[in-house]
Amino acid sequence: MKKQANKGTLVIFSGPSGSGKDTVLSKVLERDPSLKLSVSFTTRARRADEIDGVHYHFLTQEQFRFKLSQGLVLEYAEYGGSFYGTPKGPVDEMLAAGQTVILKIEVQGAARVRKVYPDALAIFLMPPSPEVLEKRLRARRTDAEEQIQTRLAIAREEIRRQDEYRFCVVNDDLERAADDVLNILHDSAC
Ligand code: 5GP
Repeated sequence: MKKQANKGTLVIFSGPSGSGKDTVLSKVLERDPSLKLSVSFTTRARRADEIDGVHYHFLTQEQFRFKLSQGLVLEYAEYGGSFYGTPKGPVDEMLAAGQTVILKIEVQGAARVRKVYPDALAIFLMPPSPEVLEKRLRARRTDAEEQIQTRLAIAREEIRRQDEYRFCVVNDDLERAADDVLNILHDSAC
């Protein structure tokens, strides 16, 4: 893979809510601890099992807008009524240090990142079927019915945009999906 001016590799990892991005990525990071995952800003409410600074940097709308105004956000998008954005500084630093940095982001933000980093490696994680996706979203028991419906509608739109990605991995088996992602990352590295 041709790298951008800096030394590292930027990886965009998208997939609809419920496709299993978190589970697959934790497997991937466990198998290759040299990979770095960017921790995003979000204005969405923290879920009970989430830790501020680990899963996200949880911000108020005002704090988020301030980060934007200071040019501290690489990309951002609105999703289900909340804002999500990638902190620019840490990503630039990790890339400058030659690391492989994974952005776990939705499709609008991914399109923006590709404009700035045309060589970014873009991977789309597909759920095995729409039924499985819905089952996974419901099994979480964290979201209200209205939020589940919003996420399902966004998921359908995201799946329509999967051909914007260079690679597509189907998450019908966790171990195999993690293997596929690792193979893509290792095969694409210089
Ligand atoms: P969730 O609320 O389920 O944690 O995330 C909702 C969606 O926002 C997911 O598709 C997730 O990948 C995406 N997301 C998380 N962080 C970012 C970010 O920094 N930028 C963008 N564009 N999307 C993000």
